[in-house]
This record gives sequence, C-alpha cells and structure tokens, in this order.
Amino acid sequence: MFWSDRDDAPVATPPLAGTIEVDLVVIGGGFTGLWTALQALEDEPGLRVAVLEAEHCGFGASSRNGGFCDSSLTHGLANGLSHWPEEIETLLRLGRENFSGLADSLERHRIDADFQLCPEIGVATEPWHMNGLAEDIEHYRAFGEDVDLLDAEQMQARVHSPTYLGGMIRRNDVALVDPARLGWGLRSAVESLGGAVHDDTLANAVYRKGSHLEIHIPSGRVLADRAVMATNAYHGPVRRPRRYTIPVYDHVLVTEPLSVEQMASVGWAEREGLGDVSNLFHYYRLTADNRILWGGYDATYHFNNGVGARHDQSDVTHTRLAEHFFETFPQLEGLSFSHRWGGPIGTTTRFTATWGTAHRGRLAWVAGYTGLGVGASRFGARVALDLVFGRRTERTELQMVRKPPVPFPPEPARWAGVQLTRKALQRSDRRGGKRGLWLSLLDRFGVGFDS
Ligand SMILES: Cc1cc2nc3c(=O)[nH]c(=O)nc-3n(C[C@H](O)[C@H](O)[C@H](O)COP(=O)(O)OP(=O)(O)OC[C@H]3O[C@@H](n4cnc5c(N)ncnc54)[C@H](O)[C@@H]3O)c2cc1C
Repeated sequence: MFWSDRDDAPVATPPLAGTIEVDLVVIGGGFTGLWTALQALEDEPGLRVAVLEAEHCGFGASSRNGGFCDSSLTHGLANGLSHWPEEIETLLRLGRENFSGLADSLERHRIDADFQLCPEIGVATEPWHMNGLAEDIEHYRAFGEDVDLLDAEQMQARVHSPTYLGGMIRRNDVALVDPARLGWGLRSAVESLGGAVHDDTLANAVYRKGSHLEIHIPSGRVLADRAVMATNAYHGPVRRPRRYTIPVYDHVLVTEPLSVEQMASVGWAEREGLGDVSNLFHYYRLTADNRILWGGYDATYHFNNGVGARHDQSDVTHTRLAEHFFETFPQLEGLSFSHRWGGPIGTTTRFTATWGTAHRGRLAWVAGYTGLGVGASRFGARVALDLVFGRRTERTELQMVRKPPVPFPPEPARWAGVQLTRKALQRSDRRGGKRGLWLSLLDRFGVGFDS
C-alpha cells in the first residue's frame, strides 16, 4: 500500500507471550484503538495500558484510507440532520472540538502526519447534482459553515476536468492527512506515555473472571480491569457489533507522481480534497509527492461479513476506477498507477459509529464510522473511554451514543438487502437522482447503505 510501504515504517513488535496484568487493554491497533490508549494515558498518567493488534498497527482501514479528515461525527451534515435534528448543534460543536483536539494532539506529540488544512469540494458532474448542492449549501450556512457554490467556470478554474459542472467548496474544519504517518505517530505517542503496543497478537476471546477480564491470546493471556474493543469492520472477540455493522470493501488507486506539465494540465493549485456527489461517488486528492489518490465508487459487501486479504484486490473495480479516472482527467492519458488496494469500511444502517458495552460494563466497543472515520475515530475512542470508566458525560447522553442503529438482518437477507440497495443507488444515479421505490422505503425508515 502506498501509505504504509515505506522505509521508515515502524518495525512490528513480536507477539505477546505469557501473562500480563493491566488496567486497560485495547483490542485493535487502528486509529480508534490508538486514540483510546493515548487519551486514557493523558487522562490518567501511569495507567497500565496495553494495545493488542492482530497484525501490525494500522493494518486495517487506518492505513488504507484517503486521508480526508473531517470534523463531522455524523457522516456529513445532511445525515446528522436527518437522524438527530434536535441534537445537531451539539453534534457539530463536539465535532469541531474533536477536530481541533486532534490538531492539538498532533502538535503536542509532534506527530508529523502531513496534516494540511485545505478546502474540500463536492463536485457536480451531472446537472441534478447542482440542485442537491444548492440545497446542501443552505443547510451548511444555517449552521455557520464556510461554504460557497461554484459554477462550472469557477470549478474549472480550480481543477480542470471536462466533466465538471460546478461544485460546493467547504473551507472550515477539513484537512488532508497522511494516514499511515498519523497511525505511526499515535503509536509512538502511546509508547512515550508508557503504554505497551503488541503487534501480531490476536485477541481470541474475552471472559469475565470475578472483578476482572481475561483476554485470551494465542500464546498467553491478558488480565485487565477494563477493555475497549476497537476492531471496527473486523470480527472482534465480542460478537454484538456484528448485528449493527457490516464490512464494505472500498478500493483505491494511486498514480505515479505527476510531472510539472501534468500538474499544470490539472491546475489544483489549492490541493483541495475532491469528491463527486453521486450516490456511488469517487474521492480524490494529491499526495505530498504529487500523485493522485483516486478511490471509491464500487462498495462491495462479501457474504457473511466477509473480510480478508482475498478482497483487497479487485480487477473489476480497479479497472473501472481507472476508466473513471481518465474520463475525469483525459489530459493525463498514459499516466500509470503505481499502487492499488482495498480495505474494509465498517458501516451501520445510519452511517455513523455505534457504541456498546459487554461483560457488565467492563468492556466497551465502538464501530461503524462508514467513510468518515479519520477524524471521528478520536471521538469514538473518547466515548468508549467514558463508557468503560462509567463516566456520565455530555457525550454519553447523546442519542447517537445511547440508541443503536437499526440492525442489519441476518444472512442471507443481509447480503440480498445490500445488493438490492447498491443496484437501486446505481439506478438512481442513472435517473437523475430519483430515489425509486426501494430507496424511498429505506429513507422512510431512516436506514441505508453507504461507504
Ligand atoms: C479504502 C478506504 C478509504 C477510506 N477513506 C477515508 C477517508 O478519506 N476519510 C475518512 O474519514 N475515513 C476514511 N475511511 C474510513 C476510515 O479509514 C476508518 O473509519 C478508520 O480508519 C477506522 O479506524 P479503526 O481503528 O476503528 O479501524 P481499523 O483501522 O480497521 O482498525 C481495526 C484493527 O483491529 C485489528 N483487529 C481486528 N481483530 C482483532 C483481534 N481479534 N485482536 C486484535 N486486533 C484485531 C485489525 O487488524 C485492525 O488493525 C476509509 C476506509 C477505507 C477502507
């Protein structure tokens, strides 16, 4: 993978063997797990914290993503408004606090994650997209966001593509990051505060033994007062999240670095994060060395919450992504792709994280950020800590935290429902955004499928 295959990647630690005793064990070493450990150590210096990671830290979505870092905790304003209109002001404020807290943490721990505040643009490539953007802009402005509508000429002046009909630019509380470096930096911050990080250490099972938890690992066990499970789209040792979250594979291409002439042919002087606004959408950005990362569109669900290396590569999806890339930037014809991969996004029927507890509150879990977990995972971790330490806070009182999403049905209805919804989304894109019977029904019940 482009982000993580680098010479200065940290060397994975050997698997944990034997028995250790800690105050808090964190299962999963992605953003959520590392933010959990870091914030716990900042809250209470000296706490004995261990992170158990089945592969190596950042192995999952956390090093495979596009690096779009957004303050939204609700997978966008429109989604937040549709689910929690009465709490939206609080959710927006908490999201902004989380975003600036993330930036402060990077500064405090000297984490060089190439964190760049830069605008994000939702690009219209079909006439019906412009109507949707005009509606969105009213909502964003009503909640004090710094947004503007761009017509075709203004959009083309920023980034040159024959497909652009306009766009909506958002300037506040959005950034691009280098996700692998963010994960590596979080890991070393955890270690510098005395936390232990164990790679190659799969948590097989969790049992409650009297007043503590016993976590079984292949060559030993961990005795812990409390645990946070942060395995997101993967199958962790506690089954409950599988009712509410499914893994959806999203795929990415990265080009060779663009030459000076190629860069001039696309413009993109402000290096904005871009994405089109179809139901099945693409997201794309420049990397520090002027490659284009291009991902999204197909979001694939594999039967029975299937995850694993066999799903990382998809000739069909990667070929389709490349075709769409050259439709967007025909002036780059001949440019080749140096990297391609896929990774599992944990999604819920309401597209936001969901939390829960098990083992009489000694274990908390969080999963399901959908495609906006880079920033929200820090908040997800914060809430998981509130829950597992029994703290009643403004965060734990949120409906988003207290009420789980509508669960996905069991198989085979789960798989069939996702396929039906994906087809309906494709059809809606072809028919000028018309929702059709199935999507309207899902809308009515406040459930859906997204990546
Ligand atoms: C292709 C792609 C593009 C994306 N783009 C964006 C984007 O641009 N912006 C954005 O905000 N979000 C994006 N996302 C989503 C974002 O990456 C995730 O929401 C976020 O990384 C979730 O972090 P996490 O720590 O919860 O999960 P993960 O990073 O998946 O971490 C879970 C970890 O748990 C480990 N694990 C699993 N089971 C066990 C076990 N039993 N014992 C021990 N360890 C275990 C796994 O190995 C893994 O490392 C994208 C995701 C993908 C896949």
